Amino acid sequence: MRELVDELRAYATWAEEAGLKNLASSQKPEARPEASGLGPRASGTATSNANVNVNANANANANAVAPAMTLPILEEVRTLLGECTRCKLHKGRHTIVFGVGNPRARLMFVGEAPGEDEDLQGIPFVGRAGQLLTKMIEGMGLKREDVYICNTVKCRPPNNRNPEPDELAACEPFLKGQLAAVKPEAIVTLGKFAAQTLLRDSTAISRLRGNWREYEGIPLMPTFHPAYLLRNTGPDEKRKVWDDLKQVMKKLGLPMPKKGES
Ligand code: URA
Repeated sequence: MRELVDELRAYATWAEEAGLKNLASSQKPEARPEASGLGPRASGTATSNANVNVNANANANANAVAPAMTLPILEEVRTLLGECTRCKLHKGRHTIVFGVGNPRARLMFVGEAPGEDEDLQGIPFVGRAGQLLTKMIEGMGLKREDVYICNTVKCRPPNNRNPEPDELAACEPFLKGQLAAVKPEAIVTLGKFAAQTLLRDSTAISRLRGNWREYEGIPLMPTFHPAYLLRNTGPDEKRKVWDDLKQVMKKLGLPMPKKGES
């Protein structure tokens, strides 16, 4: 029951923020064809970067999506995003970097913003920080295809500057839509922007990290961004991130590495 309520709440938040006015609040999650949300998730390796219908008009699609009255699937969220011009980041981007991975992932990683490599390839976390994230995921005994990976903003900020509040706000409904669609069992936020955006908490990441929080009923673990680890190469910071990831593994019931392997 709790799961159902959380799910509907997550969807209602997304729908409201994305401007979908016509959604019936009485909709049942069972209406969503491929996800009853009950029982264990398939450990499938299906991937989706949902880069479909990118030329669709967002408003027209909002109307097309709303009457269907199903929980959002990633393609719908992507369609609603369209060839987004909602904030100034669209002016400098090559590609919208929506998200990649298992659309039914048990674990979702949320980063900050695409960098140069991601902007060119349209895939999150493929540059140096991304390669480290991939190692972190593999260290957890998972593959990139098992999890879902996205960012708080979907377009590269000029010269990799920090995303600004209006940009975070413009993109937030789509991040929430991705969360409502994937319905992960746990979220790992990477760096301060993802944690602070989802938690509405301006506490420094150094204090947020390592402590379980909740986003719409989903356990959320803030940790450092892999780019931070690339800049701070000492063993202490790496150890902190690994400790955070081990907490996530425990929460998901993943086998822990034997002593000496971490
Ligand atoms: N840093 C991020 O936060 N996201 C990416 O996709 C790449 C680097």
